Amino acid sequence: MTSTVTALRTLDIRFPTSRELDGSDAMNPDPDYSAAYVIVETDAPDGLSGHGFVFTIGRGNEVAVAAIDALRPMLVGHDADALLEDLGATSRALIGDSQLRWLGPEKGVMHMAIAAVLNALWDLRAKRAGMPLWQLLSRMTPEELVALVDFRYLSDALTPEEALQLLRAAEPGRAERERQLLERGYPAYTTTPGWLGYSDDKLERLAKEAVADGFGQIKLKVGACLEDDIRRMKIARAAVGADVRIAIDANQRWDVDEAVEWVRALTPSDPYWIEEPTSPDDVLGHARIRRGVSPVKVATGEHAQNRVIFKQLLQAGSIDVLQLDAARVAGVNENLAILLLAAKFGVPVCPHAGGVGLCEMVQHLSMFDFVALTGTTQDRVIEYVDHLHGEFVDPAVVSDGHYVAPTAPGFSSQLRDDVLRDYEYPAGPVWRAIAEEDAR
Ligand SMILES: [Mg+2]
Repeated sequence: MTSTVTALRTLDIRFPTSRELDGSDAMNPDPDYSAAYVIVETDAPDGLSGHGFVFTIGRGNEVAVAAIDALRPMLVGHDADALLEDLGATSRALIGDSQLRWLGPEKGVMHMAIAAVLNALWDLRAKRAGMPLWQLLSRMTPEELVALVDFRYLSDALTPEEALQLLRAAEPGRAERERQLLERGYPAYTTTPGWLGYSDDKLERLAKEAVADGFGQIKLKVGACLEDDIRRMKIARAAVGADVRIAIDANQRWDVDEAVEWVRALTPSDPYWIEEPTSPDDVLGHARIRRGVSPVKVATGEHAQNRVIFKQLLQAGSIDVLQLDAARVAGVNENLAILLLAAKFGVPVCPHAGGVGLCEMVQHLSMFDFVALTGTTQDRVIEYVDHLHGEFVDPAVVSDGHYVAPTAPGFSSQLRDDVLRDYEYPAGPVWRAIAEEDAR
């Protein structure tokens, strides 16, 4: 018996995080962490649904919801089993729609909406398989994995045959690495101490707590005021000691030469990487910055719009660290392409996380990479931010500086029903209460 997609439900979910300055950085001083949320429902007797979302920081979340709504005709009424069995073809159909494609191509709001839908389908497929997504992917054959990837525009850097070789080379040892992963988890670093809106005292206290909690790396937001950054870096370095890595993140604040000067001014405190020094589209600018700030590493990717930009960043020698994002490029499929590219070029992937549900999702991609692709966690860490986890049905868990491998079936991308009700914007009870308070 086959099943049919019966509904694509969308919700505008927003959390009033700007009230605490959690998540504040040089470019985004007052984010309300939000999710343009989608639920894929079918008439299968298992009653399972797939959950995915676009992460935004508030205003404009309704635009992302509208973009997901535009995909509804491509799913509702279609054979759910066929869509799920060949997610490579499903991905290509969504991305290649002859009219919607004009809105990108393969970038921006429409691409992020496709990510939400594809990730929801992967959530549903993993739930049906009774496995966490990382395990489902790690147990697929190299041929099945390669069939999920769109190699269009990549073949000058990575061919399907090369991808197959990389995956086949990692086949021996998959079971042993799966065992290791379940036993000790995957290394994490924390951004919790370093938000720009926090006082020096709060920074110092949270940096010390991070080390006590077992993290080997923390991250500080920089780029608003050089004097402040020099002072905050000194405070953080004194708090964590010489052996803990401190990454810094400018969130695209600088021009190219300004980035070089600013990072050089901070080098006495030994930053490990500079993240998003300039425009995420500036492939050659990143290469120039990298030459200028070495041995400080250059990291970017959370705003890289698709696999083509990642290909160029790697080809041009622009980055030391690749920071893919679970919900900006077109979901699991395009992230498989990006993981394969990074493996080919030997560049470590340290995913972007935080926000709403990004920790929950991205852990699956890194864990797959460890078990079935690169086989290592050397110089690899997943970002962790200690906000908005309990809102999820299967929250990310970090213990002793490591992500604990999820074992619940799915992509860990499902918000609790009461959260979906309370935080719906603007009609949910949380937002109605805020509106009433503001009116007084
Ligand atoms: Mg960042």
